Amino acid sequence: LIKGVVHTFALKVERYNGKIDTELEAAEAHVFVDEMHITNVIFNLMDNAVKYKRPDVDLHLMVRTWNESGKLMISVQDNGIGIKKENLKKIFEKFYRVHTGNLHDVKGFGLGLAYVKKIIMDHKGTIRAESELNVGTKFIIALPLLKTD
Ligand code: ATP
Ligand code: MG
Repeated sequence: LIKGVVHTFALKVERYNGKIDTELEAAEAHVFVDEMHITNVIFNLMDNAVKYKRPDVDLHLMVRTWNESGKLMISVQDNGIGIKKENLKKIFEKFYRVHTGNLHDVKGFGLGLAYVKKIIMDHKGTIRAESELNVGTKFIIALPLLKTD
């Protein structure tokens, strides 16, 4: 599923002189997901990475999967404009957008991450973001693995 979204984005990212790297290392990836919604989740995160790139820096996206304490972990990391600590706690709220003045005139409703959060919660998972202004942002998702015993 993730490879599919990455593939969809490859052309778009190339247009920005950017690149997407993947490290899909999750050995156990048996999760029960709503395919359409989880595809949209990854899509939204990658869409943001493209929208909030630094204008003077080539976009570099890194998508990782791994296993950690019985969970499937997925991270989407960019080298974009980043988000200030005080704003970071609000980004999952409906209609919240960081005020960036005239620096970049990027359109949006502030709904993408509220949707992402809802879908991950519905899957009994968690999502958090780490960010540094002018360095980049990383979203980390944990989804419970299916119990196979
Ligand atoms: P929509 O997704 O509804 O089209 P949006 O992108 O503005 O609009 P969200 O995806 O919910 O809304 O993101 C909320 C805000 O968080 C964004 O407006 C932006 O300020 C900030 N943000 C989200 N992702 C990133 C990112 N990867 N890098 C920097 N800022 C981000
Ligand atoms: Mg968005």
